[in-house]
Amino acid sequence: MGNAVSEPAAIKTVEASLLDRLRAITGDGGVLTGPDVSSRYPGYFMDKIEAAAIVRPRTTEQVAEVIAACNAARQPVVVQGGMSGWVRATQTNADEIVLSLERMNTIEQIDPVNRTAMVQAGVILQTLQEAIEPLALSFALDLGGRGSCQLGGNAATNAGGLRVVRYGMMREQVLGLEAVLADGRIVSSMNQMIKNNAGYDLKQLFIGSEGTLGVITRLVLRLRESPVSSNTALVSASSFDQLSRLLRHCDGAFGGLLSAFELIDNSFYRVNTAEGRHTAPLAADKPFYAIVEALGSDQERDAELFERVLGEASELGLFDDAILARSERDRTAIWAIREDLEFVVRDFQPFYAFDVSLPVGDMAGYMEDVAARLRARWPDGRIAFLGHVGDGNLHVAIGAGGDDDRHAVEGCVYEPLRQCGGSVSAEHGIGLEKKPWLSISRSAEEQALMIDIKRLLDPNNILNPGKIFDRLPVAPRAA
Ligand SMILES: Cc1cc2nc3c(=O)[nH]c(=O)nc-3n(C[C@H](O)[C@H](O)[C@H](O)COP(=O)(O)OP(=O)(O)OC[C@H]3O[C@@H](n4cnc5c(N)ncnc54)[C@H](O)[C@@H]3O)c2cc1C
Repeated sequence: MGNAVSEPAAIKTVEASLLDRLRAITGDGGVLTGPDVSSRYPGYFMDKIEAAAIVRPRTTEQVAEVIAACNAARQPVVVQGGMSGWVRATQTNADEIVLSLERMNTIEQIDPVNRTAMVQAGVILQTLQEAIEPLALSFALDLGGRGSCQLGGNAATNAGGLRVVRYGMMREQVLGLEAVLADGRIVSSMNQMIKNNAGYDLKQLFIGSEGTLGVITRLVLRLRESPVSSNTALVSASSFDQLSRLLRHCDGAFGGLLSAFELIDNSFYRVNTAEGRHTAPLAADKPFYAIVEALGSDQERDAELFERVLGEASELGLFDDAILARSERDRTAIWAIREDLEFVVRDFQPFYAFDVSLPVGDMAGYMEDVAARLRARWPDGRIAFLGHVGDGNLHVAIGAGGDDDRHAVEGCVYEPLRQCGGSVSAEHGIGLEKKPWLSISRSAEEQALMIDIKRLLDPNNILNPGKIFDRLPVAPRAA
């Protein structure tokens, strides 16, 4: 069947000649339209996908040709990775084209001597984790969306996750990166060394840029030796102050082995340990819980150290009660209480999720302030805090108000960040969701410089337009 007959109505907004050109570049199955677009998985918090077409290149060169053609036609392009993001950064309009990295999913090389992996950007995080496990190597980034998020998406969002306290964010795991600029130029910066101060570190521009400055096509990633030992405990505490002192105590006494320090508040703990859900290893009567985990290289020695350090912490009154995982099964059961989001999404309706960061010393006051603001407006509102406290990162889950109350609920969470210099986005990015609140965390000068960089790299504003900032005006296309 010819193109003109099979195109759906939305296609009219995109030049048919451009779609033909994109088909020629990407070959068989490279361009999806119509029901193949609308029936696709829409992303974590979106209810449908609208786009004129989904373009699925296989190589960097194809990406470059696609982007150059779109740039020449002033055609907006939204890059989609694994669609696991939480801030609607991959949302599209009917007149936009999606560039999906799903067919760029090759692990090109694993180098056990240099401890690096060279990958195409569409490789799923879990696929890499599983590929390197038999080599006794591990990748430091780990997060709940591991089965769907792509390494390119992890870089584009500078993902954080569960082990930042030990290894840092995605930024620290990327040694080299290749990107296609808005005019189709390929900037290959596939550095393999930890140290390289030869001028500007250009890869950092693209990391965390949410698809607005270029398309990340390939990556060189830093690998680590797989930990041999893991020791995990769940503790309960009567105050947040106890936990912040426990964090310092463990970080110092574990000698660099502390790999996770995850907060669960009473509200979240109760949701996930309610009858018929996960088993509660500790009584649900304390305001705070934390998962403490140390990863190391000697099971016997590390287990002894772990128990001794927690024993000292108990004597110092840094927690009320604790349970140690004695098997992998225990460990999985403890982590499930933190990682399972299904029940909170079901119980808290309408469900709102937030990801903020602030100094650990301000967290107790912040949580009280947010809860007070929420209850003042919605006395029956539900609220729960959890998160990567070791990194100053809190996730806030809220079930309050109606569908039209999003902005007011957001105000309860974001406004208190002004006083403590916190960030409206610890790890999920800005996307569309957090645009109205960016000025809480970035000065006018910082935002102006970001826009200057965007204009320099994408003067026609074709890459993910309208995300992070409102759509920028562009010069009209020459006749
Ligand atoms: C259960 C669950 C738990 C999660 N936990 C965490 C967590 O602990 N920490 C955390 O940081 N995140 C977490 N996330 C969010 C999400 O997994 C991350 O933001 C992830 O890095 C997004 O990757 P993705 O491939 O799904 O990107 P997408 O959602 O597809 O895209 C995100 C952004 O990146 C851009 N993008 C994607 N690929 C590219 C590319 N190749 N080149 C240029 N731009 C690109 C998109 O345009 C968009 O702006 C979680 C998600 C889920 C579902």
